[in-house]
Formats: sequence, structure tokens, C-alpha cells
Amino acid sequence: MKIALVNIATNKYISFLPKLYTTANMFFLNEHEVDYFLFSNLDFLINNCARKIHIKKIEHKPWPYMTLNRYKFFTEAEDQLKQYDYIYYCDVDMYFYSKVGNEILSDRVATIHPGFFNSKKTEYTYEDNPESTAFLKNEDGDNYYAGGFNGGSSREFLKMAKTINENITKDEEKSIIAKWHDESHLNKYFFVNKPTKILNPLYCFPDNFSSDLSPKIIAITKNHELFRSEV
Ligand code: UDP
Repeated sequence: MKIALVNIATNKYISFLPKLYTTANMFFLNEHEVDYFLFSNLDFLINNCARKIHIKKIEHKPWPYMTLNRYKFFTEAEDQLKQYDYIYYCDVDMYFYSKVGNEILSDRVATIHPGFFNSKKTEYTYEDNPESTAFLKNEDGDNYYAGGFNGGSSREFLKMAKTINENITKDEEKSIIAKWHDESHLNKYFFVNKPTKILNPLYCFPDNFSSDLSPKIIAITKNHELFRSEV
């Protein structure tokens, strides 16, 4: 299979990239042909990466636009991305800790958010503004999914990216930004289009959680103020 791993890294977030790529080379879908797509405002060179890196130039905007606009960037790269069988996204401040293999290959792949694994539905933080396209009632929801790792067949992933991008644009026309940005829209999308594979939080595991379990993908704790530039 041909797989694309897509990541966004502008400004200081670029510092996370070497660890992500080094560990993805070791653990991410090793049986397959994997290419990396980096969306960045910087000219970044990684020498001797075992896999091909495609750099897509984007303009940096202050928080929350680099996370909120992710689906716009993927939609704009559709012509290239549709040549892959599967597309996966992870936040750049993550790294692979152990083998992530064929178990993740499915049409629409969601990951349960580690903060809501054992939560009651009433605790889910879906968008609660009925005016937003991301609006979802707590009692209706199935799970609370993480924005940090998801993917699927390229056809389904690009369909999702297009729909979420359209919904975010509709919200912007009403001056609405959903509570958890792209993650609120992802949760609404997966409510309407049920995931065909639901991964447990080991695929989005915070580095400050203590556990006897062996994580697959780790989310790095960071000082948000330090990384999220205002300009
Ligand atoms: N991001 C970026 N530049 C920014 C802000 C965010 O490249 O200025 C990207 C980066 O890939 C990051 C993702 O957006 O991992 C999500 O942002 P962040 O990790 O800050 O959100 P969190 O997951 O901590 O809520």
C-alpha cells in the first residue's frame, strides 16, 4: 500500500519534527511504502530521512488557525494526496513509541481522546452552540475523539477534509469558531459518518499519564504559550 503521513509544523512547532520522523521511520506502517507530507511556512531540510518528504508551503497564522485550517491544507493538496491508498494525520508534537501496523488500515479511523476514555457522555466537550455546524448534543454522541491522530482511505480522508473545511468556512461566515477548533468539527463528522475503526487512546497517549500499558503514539506535554505565537 502507498501511505501518506501528513503533518503541520509552523514556526516553533518545527522543533518537534525530527523526533516524529525518526520514530515514524522505525514504527509507522513499516510493511508499506510511506511518504511524509509536511505543511510548513519554513524551509526545512532533513538529511538522510529513510522516507520521501514532500514539503507544502503554507502561510503561518496565529493560534488557532494552524490547527483549524488543517483540513483546508489537505484539501488543497488533494491532487497529490489522492494518489495514496491511505492518509494519516498526527499532530507534530507526537512521536511513535511502538509498532503501529495494519490494524489502523480502514476507511475512517478515529482515536478515542485519552481525556475522555472513561468519561460519561455529559462530560464530552462537543460544540454546544446550535449556530455552529459542529453542534452536537452530548446525549447523542458516541465517543469523544482526539484531533491528534486520525486517518483512513484517501477517498474517505479527503472527503472528510472537504466537508470539515466547508463547515468551518460556514461557521466563519457567522464569526463562529468552534470550542475545540478542528477537533469539534471532527467529532461532528464522525457522529454523522461513523468511524469504521476506533482506536483506543494508546494511539494518542499523553507523556504525563502513568500507566502499565504500552503506548503506540505519545503526545508530548508542552508549554502552549511558548509555542503558540500571536503573530
Ligand atoms: N500547529 C502549528 N503551528 C502553530 C500551532 C499549531 O504547526 O502555531 C500545528 C501542530 O501540528 C500542532 C497542531 O497544530 O501539533 C495542534 O496544535 P497544538 O498541538 O498546539 O494543540 P493541542 O493538541 O495542544 O491542543
